[in-house]
Amino acid sequence: PGEVVSVRDLSKTYGGKASTIEKLLGRKPRGLKAVRGVSFSIDRGEVLGFVGESGCGKSTLARLIAGLMAPSEGEIVFNGKKPRLQMVFQDPFSSLNGRWRVRDIIAEPIRTHKLRKPSEIPGRVAELLEQVGLSAADGMKFPQGFSGGQRQRISIARALAGEPDFLILDEPTSALDVSVQAQILNLLRDLQSRLGLTSLFITHNLSVVRLMADRIGVMYLGELVELAPAHDIFTDPKHPYTRLLIDAAPDLDPIDRTLHPIPGELPDPSRPPSGCSFRTRCPYAQPLCAEQAPPLRKGNGREIRCHFDLQPQSLSVPE
Ligand code: SF4
Ligand code: MG
Repeated sequence: PGEVVSVRDLSKTYGGKASTIEKLLGRKPRGLKAVRGVSFSIDRGEVLGFVGESGCGKSTLARLIAGLMAPSEGEIVFNGKKPRLQMVFQDPFSSLNGRWRVRDIIAEPIRTHKLRKPSEIPGRVAELLEQVGLSAADGMKFPQGFSGGQRQRISIARALAGEPDFLILDEPTSALDVSVQAQILNLLRDLQSRLGLTSLFITHNLSVVRLMADRIGVMYLGELVELAPAHDIFTDPKHPYTRLLIDAAPDLDPIDRTLHPIPGELPDPSRPPSGCSFRTRCPYAQPLCAEQAPPLRKGNGREIRCHFDLQPQSLSVPE
């Protein structure tokens, strides 16, 4: 099918501000390294999911790929022409312009990209509203008249209106009630299979990513630590962090919204540990892990950033 987008060695460091103590000590400000050396590609029709704790850099990654900010290093290569890209954000309350009627919100990308003749736009808007489970009459209302879940349906209709080659969904259901979350996920899955959308799906929720993604990238402290087909991530997680995340989830019920915490504290992202970023929380850390950053090992369609090839039997946490 071919790659739609490929990301090479992408990094983003936010400009740091020195604290008062650091100023007194004459230290340089530390930049916050939100994304560090991330590479991957997405094939046409594929849903690539990214999962990780809050602060792991996944939203920054989404924004970099969407072109909403520039990377500090690395590049994003779109295959062939520059694709049309649409994004669905987490917050259904701030992402829609409250002064516009819903029909105009949805028509905007159609007009911007000149995707239909002006006379065809009302019919297309009605069709999109129906595709997301709303009615043509809803187009006359303002976003304020809708619930969170309905607003997210409007956001999805707006994204589809732009006929995107590539869709970025950043925690699209995290702000919704659990029952509504399930409805929106079902809608997205249905649209995904009917329209063959290529997308990047960002979430902190393992159940959600399992439901939605064909392949899953696991992020930790700005790095991609494991990338594998969704099934492999859940049945045979290789990286110690992935393993701990999955073990920490008591059941993978789609209504369980949390990413269950694993032991230990997330290090300060402006001062990541030497060697392996995960070593301060890793039950298998060896002296080598503090000295050298692990290489990305590739094989069988998987990528794992760890020095060791840990076998399942060695993955029971030592007492
Ligand atoms: Fe753990 Fe070492 Fe592997 Fe890092 S490189 S995940 S610290 S075993
Ligand atoms: Mg986020």
